[in-house]
Amino acid sequence: MSSVPSPAPSSLAPHDRARPLAKGSPKPAKDLCSDCGLCDSRWVAYVRRACAFLEQRFEAMEEQAHGRSRRLDDEDELYFGVHQRMVTARLRQPIEGAQWTGIVSRIGVRALESGLVDAVLCVQQSEDDRFTPVPVLARTPEEVLAARVNKPTLSPNLEVLEQLPGSGIERLLAIGVGCQIQALRAVQATLPLQKLYVLGLPCVDNVSRQGLQTFLESASRSPDTVVHYEFMQDFRIHFRHSDGHQETVPFFGLDTPALKDVFAPSCLSCFDYTNAGADLVVGYMGATFGRQWVTVRNPLGQELLDLVEPELDLAPVTSSGERRQAVQQGIDAYEKALKLPMWLAELVGVFVQRFGPKGLEYGRFSIDSHFTRNALWLQRHHPEKVDAHIPAFARRIVDRYRLPKP
Ligand code: FAD
Ligand code: SF4
Repeated sequence: MSSVPSPAPSSLAPHDRARPLAKGSPKPAKDLCSDCGLCDSRWVAYVRRACAFLEQRFEAMEEQAHGRSRRLDDEDELYFGVHQRMVTARLRQPIEGAQWTGIVSRIGVRALESGLVDAVLCVQQSEDDRFTPVPVLARTPEEVLAARVNKPTLSPNLEVLEQLPGSGIERLLAIGVGCQIQALRAVQATLPLQKLYVLGLPCVDNVSRQGLQTFLESASRSPDTVVHYEFMQDFRIHFRHSDGHQETVPFFGLDTPALKDVFAPSCLSCFDYTNAGADLVVGYMGATFGRQWVTVRNPLGQELLDLVEPELDLAPVTSSGERRQAVQQGIDAYEKALKLPMWLAELVGVFVQRFGPKGLEYGRFSIDSHFTRNALWLQRHHPEKVDAHIPAFARRIVDRYRLPKP
């Protein structure tokens, strides 16, 4: 048997020489780390240019993934990123237990069944705790379905890159949120893959597992029985409990002073709400109540959508209402850390739901509110990072509002 000589150390790629950081050790992004998992893999070798919280590379990432960066003078691209198509949709036969109707899980299942990919990077949950994420490389439809529903906590998705070498996986579908996808795109060329598809989720206001507990205890009447929740387009948080009952709470009734520090610092400094680097993004906030919002960024994204399109009830995106006054009022109220009495919160909620922004305008409302809050947070907590950290598109949006003094 002929033996293959080992390559000289100098010819090894940086990730072949690197080791994952030890669990629990300080991360390069320090307090801003979102625990994306890259540092838990040998691809930590590229962390300086890959970490979303050390270097923002939106234009380069968009060029690499979509062949061009977003057009800042096009309002839809300014807000929602590079795209060739935007629609709203629901699976005609929703998947039981999914976050919404389960379009994401269905795409994962079809990608495996059709042979488009060998594995799907997704997030299952710990056996002991519904909200503790367990990233996996799913090889079967059952494993993809076991990952359905949000784990609304920071998830080290990219740690499973460590399992790729020698796994036989050559074509991968990666599902993930913006910070995970930014790091993945930055190391894509060095991965042992022939093909990578990226299915993104919009993401904002994520929390550590401990932060989630604080949030649930502050917002729900029965925090220990919550199995599912979502910030819905009717300006209410919908909690589903283990006995099946629904509880809804108006956004404006949240205890803002108690929750100011609950969100992860990574998420308070992030401007990748709509997941700029994904091929296809599936969320909800640009759609009317009960429907999902689908953004196809490039031909690979359309290939993913083709897998499920015959099973979808599709409709064009719509937009109505006017967000700007509500956003400005929200900035002022947040600054004063106001907590409204519940009767007033209900009243404001009913009014906003009736006359407030809907469809894409609701999406812009949410983006404006979070970008302004995050710009202010950065100015106060990391003034040295403001220039490098706020991308041009976010700066344009933030400049439309009157922010309090840092
Ligand atoms: P399902 O079929 O239920 O599949 C859910 C998928 O999410 C699974 O494949 C799983 O792998 C993945 N996943 C679960 N938890 C995580 C995690 N922590 N990190 C990475 N991947 C995960 N959409 C909006 O429009 N606006 C928002 O503000 C918004 N915020 C979000 C915040 C978080 C933390 C997450 C995880 C998602 C958020 N989304 C948001 C996306 C939205 O809530 C739904 O996930 C999306 O519409 C898909 O629904 P589905 O029924 O098709 O998903
Ligand atoms: Fe590492 Fe990811 Fe944390 Fe950045 S966000 S330091 S890449 S684990």
